[in-house]
Amino acid sequence: MINIVGNNKTYKIKNNKIPVLKNIHISIDKPGLYIFTGESGSGKSTLLNCLSGIDQWDEQETNNVKGNCSFIFQDYHLFPHMTAYENVKFAMEINHKKQMNQIDSVFNELQIQDVKEHEPNQLSGGQQQRVAIARAILIDKPYILADEPTGNLDEKNALDIAHYLKEVSKNKVVIVATHDLSLFIPLADEVYKLEHGEIIDHQVISHKQSKNIEVGDKDEERLNFNHILRFSSKGYKTKYSRLVILLLTLLLSFLTTLTAINILTNDIFEIKERQMIKHQISDVEFVKYGNNLSSGLMYSITGDEIQSLVNKYNIDNYILFTDQISPQITYNNQTIDVHISRIYRTSHVTKNTILGVRDISYGEVIITQELASELVDELNINNVNELINLNIAINEIQLKIVDIFVQQSYIDGQDNVSTEASHIDALKHSIYMNESTYFLVSHATRRDYINVNINEFNNNIRITDLNQSFFQALAFGTLDVDNDEVVIDYHTALSLSDDMSQLIGTDITLDINQYTFNINDPIGHEYRTYTIRGIFQTNNEDIPWLFSEDEFNLLSYNFGMNNYQSNALNGIVVDDISKQLLKEFDSNQITDYTYISQSINITNAYIDSVALLISILGVILFVISILITLSYVNNSIIAMKNEIGILRSLNISLKDIMKIFVTEVTLISITTVIIVSIIHVFIIQIINHFLQSLDLISFNYLYYNYLSVIIIFFVPLSISLVFVKVITNKLNKLNSIELIRYS
Ligand code: ADP
Ligand code: MG
Repeated sequence: MINIVGNNKTYKIKNNKIPVLKNIHISIDKPGLYIFTGESGSGKSTLLNCLSGIDQWDEQETNNVKGNCSFIFQDYHLFPHMTAYENVKFAMEINHKKQMNQIDSVFNELQIQDVKEHEPNQLSGGQQQRVAIARAILIDKPYILADEPTGNLDEKNALDIAHYLKEVSKNKVVIVATHDLSLFIPLADEVYKLEHGEIIDHQVISHKQSKNIEVGDKDEERLNFNHILRFSSKGYKTKYSRLVILLLTLLLSFLTTLTAINILTNDIFEIKERQMIKHQISDVEFVKYGNNLSSGLMYSITGDEIQSLVNKYNIDNYILFTDQISPQITYNNQTIDVHISRIYRTSHVTKNTILGVRDISYGEVIITQELASELVDELNINNVNELINLNIAINEIQLKIVDIFVQQSYIDGQDNVSTEASHIDALKHSIYMNESTYFLVSHATRRDYINVNINEFNNNIRITDLNQSFFQALAFGTLDVDNDEVVIDYHTALSLSDDMSQLIGTDITLDINQYTFNINDPIGHEYRTYTIRGIFQTNNEDIPWLFSEDEFNLLSYNFGMNNYQSNALNGIVVDDISKQLLKEFDSNQITDYTYISQSINITNAYIDSVALLISILGVILFVISILITLSYVNNSIIAMKNEIGILRSLNISLKDIMKIFVTEVTLISITTVIIVSIIHVFIIQIINHFLQSLDLISFNYLYYNYLSVIIIFFVPLSISLVFVKVITNKLNKLNSIELIRYS
């Protein structure tokens, strides 16, 4: 029942409280037709709104009419995106009314059956009013509150409606606010007259009914998924251009962000790994570059990475060699250091040389024209030919220059290599030797230092198994060593005993530190004992200790640390394809594993700077797109304020209304992410192809990155959802009537 005792209603306008309803006493508990009259502005509408609960009294009061009443608005408030029929059907559905066939009979009675498929903007005011009445009647609530229900109808229709409401009032409380006294007074059971917000008169005309209307509190109604989808997709149609802009911005920003994340999270090591898997590579060569050559461009692969590659892919064939080779050349008593960038291994050359040498024998080298010119300059030689037969010492191994290539010959007239300018440049200072000479040279550059403790002192001892070419004469003993024997240097011998001859045949125990690829801390140590077989003559700490070949290999690979002293090792992955490429590149079938590596390195440096740019762009666009999304959500909610008000007046929970926008945002997110994911696959292909066409890379640099897709899906979505919650919470503070009035 309605029982209002001395309630007031004030509106706040610019901090002024304007009283609209004053000291209202109303008690209604029986079915019947109740008429509120009064002049325009007397407060009829406000009173109806407060009674129904779509507006609030100044006094906090529990209102059991709310949820038990249907409201007929003065300006109808139908949902614009639904037909007349759908408007009514929707209201019935949320109120769990199943008898949809009633719609047709009520529509017939109200004479709107012909226009039931029309949307509100295709209906006249009178027709809309009748749809609103049909809606109010069919949701079948104990209270019907109608604000000027006949205000937009002609005389005949108005009379019909008035009688119709009179009929309905036999079982329900029907409250009508009207200034049309002639129409309703004859039908009224009770009449309240308002003036300036006060009830100045109350007449009880007749009451045939005696049974009271009893209602309990009613829970808020729910929207089902269909309704939610309907309302959320409504936005797409009405805000078409806005949606297109939003989608385009999202697409652009997501794509840039994806690419940025992809580049940022791309790890060259992983890329190499993937290549290894793809090409089933088992042959890997790791090259240590000297500092001069690396010049900041080289990608560094750490010892740990090498180890993990070797372990992971069971690589059985890998070697480590230094590329920091500074051969020395002596001429007319002057010795100069020569920088060479590559050593090529080949025993037969097809390129043109000055003397026409084709086969390279053990201990012989052919040098490039560029290297020769440099030597001519530095050694003050008149003619390049004077270099022929000079000795060139690489790691103290004396080799003989037997010939010089004529200029550019190593390119062999192949045009397609011209793009590899930087690569070719690096090759210009090269030296060619056969496999066994190379073995000798590279042997001397293996991990030929071990770190040992002798007499509590920590020493780096140079080790070797080469006893022929370059060692000094012996002071004592013999060079002939077995696996458990050693020839030591003079300096160490001196520190061990004053009488060095006594040392021959005695044992020396080395406490050898064990290093991993990281040389910072030894991971352990091992004692190994050797019988001293000889002592070298020269008092030079850097003279290597001579071990047997087996023992050298063991020490070199288990304890050797020479190659790890550099801060970086450059990893090169060699697959059959690139080997093939190199074969074509050089008809001499020279093994040059640097090719792929350099390509990666250049790309890496190149891409790093581009990556920064793309990342900045990505972040900016990402932020913009989120802002645009939020503005879209905001607009979407504001544009729906009227509908939200109607939904609230239909007693739908705010939580369910929020679901409309959650669904809207989620649908947009899912759509864009699906589109973006597909486009992104192509973009990655395009970028890879582009880089490959520039010869910057020899294989894919970018890969599809699932992480980034997850990021661009969830980050904007969750921000938007929080935003939806914030806005709808704000709306919660408004009365339904305030929301409805917005339109
Ligand atoms: P009626 O329906 O009898 O014509 P209303 O209830 O619409 O009267 O209005 C009563 C008074 O309250 C009027 O003076 C009107 O100006 C004022 N009023 C109505 N709504 C608002 C509002 N939202 N804010 C401020 N004043 C309002
Ligand atoms: Mg009014």
